[in-house]
Amino acid sequence: MSFDVPFIRPRMPSVTEIAEDYESIVASNWFSNFGPKERELARRLGEYVDGGVTAVTMNNATTALIALVHSLLGRGDGSRRVIVPSFTFAAGPAAIEWCGYVPIFVDIEPDGLQPDLEQARQALSSDRTIAAILLCNTFGIGNARIAEWEQLAGEYEIPLIVDSAAGFGSRYSDGRLLGAAGSAEVFSLHVTKPFAIGEGGVVTTRDLDLAQKLERFQNFGFGPGRAAEDLGTNGKLAEIMAAIGLRQLAGIDRAIASRQDVVRAYREALPTGWRMPTGLGASSVCFATLIALDRTSRDDAFARLMRAGVEVRRYYEPAVHRQPHFAGFEQVAPLKVTEDISDRVISLPVHEEMEASALVKVVSALTQASS
Ligand SMILES: *Cc1c(COP(=O)(O)O)cnc(C)c1O
Repeated sequence: MSFDVPFIRPRMPSVTEIAEDYESIVASNWFSNFGPKERELARRLGEYVDGGVTAVTMNNATTALIALVHSLLGRGDGSRRVIVPSFTFAAGPAAIEWCGYVPIFVDIEPDGLQPDLEQARQALSSDRTIAAILLCNTFGIGNARIAEWEQLAGEYEIPLIVDSAAGFGSRYSDGRLLGAAGSAEVFSLHVTKPFAIGEGGVVTTRDLDLAQKLERFQNFGFGPGRAAEDLGTNGKLAEIMAAIGLRQLAGIDRAIASRQDVVRAYREALPTGWRMPTGLGASSVCFATLIALDRTSRDDAFARLMRAGVEVRRYYEPAVHRQPHFAGFEQVAPLKVTEDISDRVISLPVHEEMEASALVKVVSALTQASS
């Protein structure tokens, strides 16, 4: 089905630009395996985030999450748990499981919809064996209590992995860019994210030793002698994807500013009693999350927007613990906020340089929906 206003409309490099990049790739005869484009992208991503981080590119963020869990914890035997919110994308809990660990779900706090620190503390102080925390910067919004999360992980001497998939270019409340927190942060360069290349991922970390492990992991576990020294996989980013990444990185600040403009416009049109998660305006804005007054008004708005030709989604409904595969996993406490919010959430399209007519269409369908 095609929509007047599709959920995503990524601005990709022009055909001329890509042709130029492809020509240079063919001329170098280097198509993958840490070629010049990939090396330059990794260096520039690290410089962009700053904070003394090293950036390691990968073929997508899910591989990057698996690489991180594996590199930080080793292969699990299914007995140890990793704390993760249920109000997130399924990739994080899946990465935990792929590495031989068990997700244990925490709720979210109601204002920013970010993982609940008190529940994580509760889980850690119980007699459960917990190997790590997978903190999700939900919707790419930087966690307002990131320093406390780091402190909590430090107290229990466990890694803090930060899934910032949708948040490249977002800022924490102290103004720092996402990317230098915890043991490492993960970003997705999937086409649905603000920094879109198609498929791609990047890990940023201040830990050089970890960065090296990640490079090995994504290259079959090969050491310098091209012999597998550790268990690895193929998670490399191809040169053409890196070339697209370099083009996109050049325009990232303008792209984010433009996406934030859209959020401001939506905010002015919010129906009475509706709200947005705290911190959305300081994020790179993957899409616009709105919390309706109740489920009925959310469902009405959803139907009306779709009828008006506006493609909308519901992130995250169902929450991960309500998806069949993950339904049996342990919860620290009943996930009340998660369940309440997933009943009321609606995700509106945000385009870079969004056309005025598209914006008007969304806003008018949204405001009608509330009456
Ligand atoms: C998009 C997303 C992922 C997965 O990223 P891919 O690059 O598609 O593998 C993981 N976690 C979160 C929170 C995401 O939004």
